[in-house]
Amino acid sequence: MKAFFRTGVLRILAVMTVLCCGCGKEAGGPWESVDVAMGTMVQLRIYGPEEKRAQEIFGQAKEILRSLEEEELSWRLETSEVYRLNASAGGEGEALSAEMARILQTCLELYEESEGAFDVTLGALVRLWNIDSWAGGQETGDFRVPSAESLEKALGDSGSGKLQSLPEGPLREGTRLLLPEGLQLDLGAVGKGLALSRILALLEDSPEVSGAVIYLGGSVLTYGSRPGGGSWKIGIADPSAPGSSVGVLALEGQWCVSTSGDYERYVEQDGVRWHHILDPDTGMPARSGVRSATILSGDGLLSDGLSTACFILGPEKGLELAEKYGAEVLFVLEEGEIVMSEGMGAFLD
Ligand code: FAD
Ligand code: MG
Repeated sequence: MKAFFRTGVLRILAVMTVLCCGCGKEAGGPWESVDVAMGTMVQLRIYGPEEKRAQEIFGQAKEILRSLEEEELSWRLETSEVYRLNASAGGEGEALSAEMARILQTCLELYEESEGAFDVTLGALVRLWNIDSWAGGQETGDFRVPSAESLEKALGDSGSGKLQSLPEGPLREGTRLLLPEGLQLDLGAVGKGLALSRILALLEDSPEVSGAVIYLGGSVLTYGSRPGGGSWKIGIADPSAPGSSVGVLALEGQWCVSTSGDYERYVEQDGVRWHHILDPDTGMPARSGVRSATILSGDGLLSDGLSTACFILGPEKGLELAEKYGAEVLFVLEEGEIVMSEGMGAFLD
């Protein structure tokens, strides 16, 4: 039995490595930096500043990504708030920081609106499938589908509906979040979008930046304007040939584009593709007839969260969900058919 592990994500983690920066030649750029963070490639391209300032901005962006991972989101590093929350499961709970309360409140709303399809309490399931180990891009024969009993146990431990808070009501700074024994948070579905929102704030605080495009795994931020005019062009990958695109978005100003797909992080075994987006009803990779869901939104957290939710829900319910959030969505279905929201067409080149 042979399993083939494939992903676009690199395995080097925790600390980003600068592979290249300052590729621009003229004052004003474009200046480019390529790093690794959150298990994926980060490419920053900025227009406007002098080289020295551009390098400073790259350093600040790197620090944003480091602190987001190490101090807030990591489920592996003891230094993070998510790690501490997970460690408190079954106990007295932990008081939330203002930012974690805001993030989790948005995620819980998305859980409700998606009728439970989007669920940031699937940590036990994600660990059970050992999804992080699919980041090597290497061939390996040790993949096994988890047993029915272990899936049932992990599913029983999961579910945003099982979270309690003190005091009750919307989460705020200082609210104690109570995780039942065994429940583990996993914010992998929104981390990159969140990172883009933080980098956006940095760009907004840097008046010398006239435009930027930031790629972070399956999420992209566009900002400002292109020198010489014209729109930013962002390709939507073809799941059957991720090097090519099924369409190109022409975007002006600030937008976040996130794609969730079955082609980025998966294991193939005996002709079956086991991917990383899990259906909370079954604990198995979601089978909604979708190969990818791309969201266009003004907000990074929402674009990333909605792309995961829409992938699981499929086109019919996914279109409704995106509309509720004022986002545009484009699905590539298993047969290659494309389904999209009415407004998305206006952004396609
Ligand atoms: P998305 O569709 O945005 O999210 C899919 C991910 O969300 C899954 O991988 C799972 O983690 C989670 N998920 C699955 N089903 C659901 C669901 N129904 N509802 C909600 N969430 C769900 N990868 C590594 O290999 N090693 C690392 O050390 C590592 N560190 C990371 C640190 C941070 C802070 C972040 C944000 C990511 C890190 N990653 C790492 C990548 C991570 O494991 C995920 O694979 C990645 O976030 C998936 O993002 P995506 O945009 O491809 O898919
Ligand atoms: Mg996502």
